[in-house]
Amino acid sequence: MSEQSRIDIQNVTKAYGATRAVNEVNLRIEGGSYCCMIGPSGCGKTTLLRMIAGHEEPSSGKILIGGDDVTTKGTGSRGTALMFQNYALFPHLSLTDNVAFGLKVKGVAKEVRREKAREMLDRVQLLHLADRVPSELSGGQQQRVALARALITNPKVLLLDEPLSALDEFLRLKMRVELKRLQNELGITFIHVTHTQPEAIALADQVVVMDHGIVEQAASPNEVYNRPHSPYVARFMGGQNVLSGKIESLSSGAAVVMTPNGFRHDLKVGLGFSIGDLVNFVVRRDHIHLTDVADLRRNCATGRVINVEYQGTFVKLAIDTGSREEFIAYINDQAYFATPKAVGDVVNVKWGPALNHLLLGTNNSTGNPSED
Ligand code: ATP
Repeated sequence: MSEQSRIDIQNVTKAYGATRAVNEVNLRIEGGSYCCMIGPSGCGKTTLLRMIAGHEEPSSGKILIGGDDVTTKGTGSRGTALMFQNYALFPHLSLTDNVAFGLKVKGVAKEVRREKAREMLDRVQLLHLADRVPSELSGGQQQRVALARALITNPKVLLLDEPLSALDEFLRLKMRVELKRLQNELGITFIHVTHTQPEAIALADQVVVMDHGIVEQAASPNEVYNRPHSPYVARFMGGQNVLSGKIESLSSGAAVVMTPNGFRHDLKVGLGFSIGDLVNFVVRRDHIHLTDVADLRRNCATGRVINVEYQGTFVKLAIDTGSREEFIAYINDQAYFATPKAVGDVVNVKWGPALNHLLLGTNNSTGNPSED
């Protein structure tokens, strides 16, 4: 299945007048993988998904599924199924007939399609409700009917546009597990558009981070979270402090960087950098420790606490270190409550010299389209 359900997006652009909703995107999604597309509102995720589904045609570029050029093929003949955000169930039809609908359109005989629909309802654990109509179901159950309906045509690729957004937090977490289980069982490619970072990280084999119509980074969740490509990806995925400064000294690819607020940091930069270069780097918020020692030399900061939020297993401290962005430290709750801090307190924070990660990409945006 994996070769047949691989997707290659080659130099695809979709323009609406002067707006390039998707701008020269190149992307491979491996067959049988779970791909999450994430990015702020208006970044082009849905447009890209709809082009893969065949609901929109690219202005230029090609889309291949399993090596076949499907760029201009109709929705029914490219082996994809799209599950809509609002589920789009027929209110007057039973669950069986809702699920069987895709086969009816294909001219499959009534008994055959009803039997197949019952199999699909069983797969999503709703066979016992097969004769109900959608209004007699909970939100989570309706979502599972929509899934069964999308899967009945045996697609190679299932496309999901914000599938969990209508559910409450509890159901969202439950359905997330079910989606992953289904994808594992079926072995087909899932492409899931989401706004929610933890959802993308929890589900995906590949996370595609978009901004203003382009793919900013496409990689494993671990890579995107721990080794973001650019300040934008680091800020969007969260969990990091984005810092910048000038290289002050350099030896065999190991730099000391001075930030504008006067702190020095160790940073591995490799080759191709010179003294005086401006670099961006990140340090994870959960790698920061509070310290009493004031004569801190490198990989540290001092500032005034501007907010304290208890998060259960850790405490989130926002610190004004004199930089444009507040510095965030996630402090282990036991360590924090041993010496609690109040807003206005001056604190010292430090972290290990190897924990700074260089950002190579230059996209410094926050992803907010209104900032243009
Ligand atoms: P959201 O998360 O809000 O659904 P998105 O990332 O899915 O956003 P798209 O729906 O793909 O974004 O839209 C990308 C851009 O293309 C936006 O600027 C949008 O206004 C524009 N756009 C999308 N569809 C059309 C259309 N049919 N006509 C004109 N512009 C469009």
